[in-house]
Amino acid sequence: MRWERGRRSDNIEDRRGIRVSGKGIAGGGIGAIVLALVAMYFGMDPAVVLNQAGTLAPAQDEQPATFSPEEERLKEFMSVVLADTEDVWGTLFQGSGQRYQQPKLVLFSGAVQSACGFAEAAMGPFYCPGDQKLYLDMSFFNDLAQRHDAPGDFAQAYVVAHEVGHHVLTLLGVSEQVHAARSRASQTEGNALQVRMELQADCFAGVWAHHANKQRQILEPGDTEEALAAAAGVGDDRLQKQARGFVVPESFTHGSSEQRMRWFKRGMQHGDPGQCDTFKPAQL
Ligand SMILES: [Zn+2]
Repeated sequence: MRWERGRRSDNIEDRRGIRVSGKGIAGGGIGAIVLALVAMYFGMDPAVVLNQAGTLAPAQDEQPATFSPEEERLKEFMSVVLADTEDVWGTLFQGSGQRYQQPKLVLFSGAVQSACGFAEAAMGPFYCPGDQKLYLDMSFFNDLAQRHDAPGDFAQAYVVAHEVGHHVLTLLGVSEQVHAARSRASQTEGNALQVRMELQADCFAGVWAHHANKQRQILEPGDTEEALAAAAGVGDDRLQKQARGFVVPESFTHGSSEQRMRWFKRGMQHGDPGQCDTFKPAQL
C-alpha cells in the first residue's frame, strides 16, 4: 500500500506498555479464553464472552516502555489507515447529510480495559460500541501473517477498516438493532444475525478500499489479494477447523472464508454502502 505520504490521524490512543491485569482471568478458565479466541475474531461484543468469564478487577500501573523502529513505523501506518477511513467515511456521511463521528484507535499491549470489559490480546482486535473505540494489539499482525496466512500491509489495513466498519454500523444504529434482536433470539438465530453484521463490516471495509484507491491511488499490485487472504484467514470455517478439526456452521459468528471475501470484494467493486445490505438476501 502506498501510505507514506498520507495524512496522520489524531485519534490514536497509545496505551502500549501500560500493564492491565484482570484479577481472576485464570479463574475464568481456559475454556472462556478459548471460547473468546474462536468467537472474537473480530469485533464480537466482548461483554458477551467476558461476562461468562467472570468479573475482572483491573489494576493499572504505568511502565516506561520503548519500542523498536519497526513498531513505531507500524503505529504510523495505523495512523495513516485510520486517517484515510476518517476521510472516506466523512465524505460518505456528508453526502447523505450526516456527520461522521471519528472513532479512536487504542493501541495496547497484552491486555486492555474498555467500556466493554477487560480484554486480552489473544482475543484479537475488536470494536467497543460503548466507548466507540477500536482496540488493537499490533502483535496480532504476527498471528495474521503466520497462523492465518495473511501477511502484508494491506491485510493489516483490512483489519482496521473492518473494525471501522463496526463503528459505522454503530453510528447507523445497526449494531444496536442486532444487539436487541439477539437478546430475543435463539443462539442459532443470534449467531446468524451476528454473521450478517460481520459481513456488512467486511463490505464496508471494501467500500473504504474503493474510495481510498480512487482518491489517493493507494493500491499496489497484490494489495487486494492481501486483504482477501486476511478475510479468508479469519473465516469461521477455517478458524474452527484449526481450533478443533471440524466445522459447525450454526455456530458461525463471522461468516465463512468465502463469504467474507465475497462481501469485501462487493464493497470494493461498488464503493457504495447501499450495496452492503447483508440483512436482505436470504442466502448470504
Ligand atoms: Zn467484526
